Amino acid sequence: MITVFDDMQRSHAPREFIVSGKPQPIPEIPERIDMLLEGVRRIGGPVVAPKEIFGDTLALVHDRRYIQFLSTLWERWRRIPDAAETPSPNVFALGRASLPPASYPDSVVGQCGWHLGDGSCPVTPKTWEAARASAATAAHGAKLVLGGERAVYALCRPPGHHAAADMAAGFCYFNNAAVAAAVFREAGRRAAILDIDVHHGNGTEAIFYDRADVLTVSIHAHPRRFYPFFWGYPEERGRGDGEGFNLNLPLERGTTIKPYREALGTALSRIADFAPDVLVLAAGLDIAVDDPFKGFAIQTPEFGVIGRDIAALTLPMLIVQEGGYPSPHLGGNLASLLEGLLA
Ligand code: ZN
Repeated sequence: MITVFDDMQRSHAPREFIVSGKPQPIPEIPERIDMLLEGVRRIGGPVVAPKEIFGDTLALVHDRRYIQFLSTLWERWRRIPDAAETPSPNVFALGRASLPPASYPDSVVGQCGWHLGDGSCPVTPKTWEAARASAATAAHGAKLVLGGERAVYALCRPPGHHAAADMAAGFCYFNNAAVAAAVFREAGRRAAILDIDVHHGNGTEAIFYDRADVLTVSIHAHPRRFYPFFWGYPEERGRGDGEGFNLNLPLERGTTIKPYREALGTALSRIADFAPDVLVLAAGLDIAVDDPFKGFAIQTPEFGVIGRDIAALTLPMLIVQEGGYPSPHLGGNLASLLEGLLA
């Protein structure tokens, strides 16, 4: 299996994010890459670098204003006298129905409140470059699948599934899986996105919420008491043309393989009904029992079971790396999943 990987992704190296109102060490660190590459080595196959991604490809899913913001934020933030080192919002453009529509400000502080959705998307000097490289990795993987590869692994980091069209959040800046799905759509292929990260893929859901031509399905820990809290509920089914083309399958904390496979079966039969040409698997490995987020309780060999279940769809597939945080088994969990997918 071909792996797509760009070393530029190491250059985004944040130190902290905000948890319970307090800065804490961030688990989304460049060292994840080496753990994931160890899993790739166990499977074998060539590792190729992506081609550069251009604004037009990012703009298939992201607002041009947001792309511009991210590309200039670090430099603009530096010009604020006596500002914090890391750009972060202290005002928030809340989109609630009880408020009049918000307007877009010129101030970089105001724009942070518009585009930085929460306390877990720290921007560093190289975030723009790394996030672009991550999106390029997914887009290049999609092109390889369009070229006839049956399964391609895109080692994307930072991850993408919490990023919406104009918003970073949850360690995510550009929505890599959505960019890949859009590349498939541009080529006239119907894509379904199956998101198995332990967190709901709220950015991906939002990007395709009004569309019937990309099916989005997410299995995740119930957001009542788990990030991203406000989305991921079963009643979110899509809107307008997109009604019925989003499926959320929240499960209880601590879910083990048996109930997990039941939900996966529901997801896979919905995908089979949709009859896509290609599957984008948003592969979060943080469903692992020893992941620091402690959402689900999936063991290393069970990743292979999940992979085999998904492989039974017999669809060409792009596997896009999402979450999955430092633990002794991160590489092994990836290898187990990929082995199952290739079975
Ligand atoms: Zn996650």
